Amino acid sequence: MDHTPVMQQYLRIKSRHPEVLLFYRMGDFYELFFEDARRAAALLDITLTSRGQSAGQPIPMAGVPVHSVESYLARLVRKGESVAICEQLGDPAKSKGPVEREVVRIVTPGTVTDAALLDERQDTLVAAVASDGERFGLAWLDLAAGRFTVLEERGRVTLAAELERLKPAELLIAEGSALDDPRGGTALRARPPWHFELASASRLLTDQLGTLDLKGFGADELPLAISAAGALLQYVRDTQKTALPHIRGLTVEERCDALVIDAATRRNLELDQSLGGREDATLFALLDQCVTAMGSRALRRWLNRPLTDQEALRRRYQALAALIEARRFEALREGLRGVGDIERILSRVALRSARPRDLTQLRASLSGVPALKVPLGQLDSPLIATLGERIGEHADVVELLQRAIAEEPATFLRDGNVIAPGYDPDLDELRQIATHTDEFLLDLERRERERTGIAGLKLGYNRVQGFFIEISRKDAERVPKDYVRRQTVKSAERFITTELKSFEDRVLGARERSLARERELYEQVLTQLIDRLGPLQATAAALSELDALGALAERACTLQWTEPQLRTDAVLDITAGRHPVVERFAAEAFVPNDLKLEGGRRMLVITGPNMGGKSTYMRQTAIIVILAHMGSFVPAERTLIGPIDRIFTRIGAADDLAGGRSTFMVEMTEAANILNNATARSLILMDEIGRGTSTFDGLSLAWAMAQHIATQLKSFTLFATHYFELTGLAAEVEGCVNVHLDATEHGDGIVFLHAVKEGPASRSYGLQVAQLAGVPREVIGQARRYLEALESQRDRLEGAGGNGQDGKRAQRELPLFAAPPQPRSDPLREALTALDPDEMTPKAALEAVYRLKRLLDRGS
Ligand code: ADP
Repeated sequence: MDHTPVMQQYLRIKSRHPEVLLFYRMGDFYELFFEDARRAAALLDITLTSRGQSAGQPIPMAGVPVHSVESYLARLVRKGESVAICEQLGDPAKSKGPVEREVVRIVTPGTVTDAALLDERQDTLVAAVASDGERFGLAWLDLAAGRFTVLEERGRVTLAAELERLKPAELLIAEGSALDDPRGGTALRARPPWHFELASASRLLTDQLGTLDLKGFGADELPLAISAAGALLQYVRDTQKTALPHIRGLTVEERCDALVIDAATRRNLELDQSLGGREDATLFALLDQCVTAMGSRALRRWLNRPLTDQEALRRRYQALAALIEARRFEALREGLRGVGDIERILSRVALRSARPRDLTQLRASLSGVPALKVPLGQLDSPLIATLGERIGEHADVVELLQRAIAEEPATFLRDGNVIAPGYDPDLDELRQIATHTDEFLLDLERRERERTGIAGLKLGYNRVQGFFIEISRKDAERVPKDYVRRQTVKSAERFITTELKSFEDRVLGARERSLARERELYEQVLTQLIDRLGPLQATAAALSELDALGALAERACTLQWTEPQLRTDAVLDITAGRHPVVERFAAEAFVPNDLKLEGGRRMLVITGPNMGGKSTYMRQTAIIVILAHMGSFVPAERTLIGPIDRIFTRIGAADDLAGGRSTFMVEMTEAANILNNATARSLILMDEIGRGTSTFDGLSLAWAMAQHIATQLKSFTLFATHYFELTGLAAEVEGCVNVHLDATEHGDGIVFLHAVKEGPASRSYGLQVAQLAGVPREVIGQARRYLEALESQRDRLEGAGGNGQDGKRAQRELPLFAAPPQPRSDPLREALTALDPDEMTPKAALEAVYRLKRLLDRGS
């Protein structure tokens, strides 16, 4: 089938970019054809039309106007789509056949750098993973900041945890390699396996970083990390089609430098994403008082990677204390208000895509820096002093930008008026000619009117015709002989004269040359800035950290948080701790609670009515630990924290519907992860374990797990349960203690006290809570009669004898069986610990769970 030359060119270019949408520039539009047009029409809700024919069928076509392309790109990128931008390179007027076109860059969700396409307060990352089946290497890049990082570790759970932390917009894997489906919001891209090849990856990296090998970055012994980093760099080069001078280093992360927080825990604690989708109900939303967007992003990185290095943390505490004293943070924050997002501006400078307004923002930001630095010297904080040293004054850069860039430049370079007057004599002269145009034209018009005696004679200009003299049709007879007719319009004739023509050549040439000269000068300014990129980036990084510190200081002051004390012995001792987010949104006053864990008191079994505050108490403990490890003060009166390596949670019973796993399966997989990986330095939160299965199974599992943790792992553990029987653990297991939350009955209803007290709860208040939840009164009444019947039946069976520590009342509240079940035989424990999601496929894990269930059934 024959295609027009333009369509032939289109198909040739499209064949090189089969997997992305191709935006094909045609005049003032980017057009899409065939399948691309259908997809874009559906994704963007734009009209699908057609153009010409292919094999007798009209060719589907859709288009977006060039001037508003950004908003369309933003929508596509948010949906995980990549777009190849194909521009017209030649001059349509001068080319025979279709004008030359070329893909100049590919916009992808993980590599965007335009301000309009980025989330201001969140890093946008592209990541790559390489795996040998057991270990994996993960590399990620924030192209809009030039931050390039790698990590090498083992295990699927670990990989899932890191991906949950980083939330990359795109994830590259080698074609044909298997990977669990990444979290929603991450677009998976298969790349050719040879991009992951170690030798070529190393070469690419050393070439980019300008080093002989990767030893200096500590990466030479991490083959998988290097493979991933190489593949990633290849991808970024392929899509950006430009040099990447702002990627100057590679950071190797060690997992042990940070508190390990698995994927489920990160979600459960709602660190920077809420389970209910409420943006404002996260810990990050509460913390983020940063003045600059780059400060917000730094703060989010701190929150998502709490450190274990106590010295580093103490330096942050000291900085906060210094800023809080006499509310010094206020002056710092005031100074930062004039600072723009220079981190991202510098990346656009490096990629040579910086807009004129980026440069004026950089100029304004840098001019305020010296004043901002002054008060920093007076603070008693080595950390702030170091940051102060890293902030350069960059007087020469400011001076260059002041001389070179206009006070208020046009938005786009193509419109001119970007370079300041007086910066370049050639440009000034070209502009002179252009500005004298008006004067000249007015003069010419006046002279021609006099010469011809035609009062209605007018001078005009349009893009197609250039300059012309316009005379109404009725006067057209009277024009002089030297007038040459150019065009006839509705009621007028247009002419040109030799004088006007030669003027036009000079002016139009001057305009074009002046724009070209501006482009040239602009590129030179960018080059000069790129030469200074390193120190400028260091300044941006230091300002971001200062901003993050300022925000934490403000929060500590406003919310009355205190400095935690880090210790080397095993202790977690919190006096009057609060859950900062619940406190913020609670209608009533928040009830602070103490918590004490130490060598001889390692596990708290928490009982109490539903809605009593059990999970709030557990989460606030984890949140206080995390805040302390990001260097923040904490919502408590006093806090002592010994070394902690990981935080595990088994909270909530959300079905993993997307993953196709039942509640129980999710619960057991998370429990298995805990049992296999927790250490004596871990903090474990277990809420309502065993809820997803029958009472007997659930209780037996919960009992066995609690006992295993308490006797074998010896982790600090908060174990909330609705199985009252578990309060019996305290009598059997050393280091295990009961605490409870209370409620009092008030008429027919119930009042929650939210105060944590020693000892087990006395009753469960299930019916009152059901009533509170809106279960109809008749049903509650029926349930109450049913409960009474059951209880009297049990009492008859058992006689009146109580069995011990919790007293008679508690005994009466026991559900249908009295004695706590005996811990199960060892096969159970073995079956449990064998359930290692790192080691097995989901199918094998499922089988293991069923084996477990059979064991339990036989046991009971
Ligand atoms: P549970 O886990 O025992 O069912 P939650 O921890 O979910 O109970 O708490 C239920 C509600 O009670 C919370 O949403 C919160 O509004 C309130 N609450 C919990 N703890 C406190 C507290 N210490 N002070 C004030 N209100 C609290």
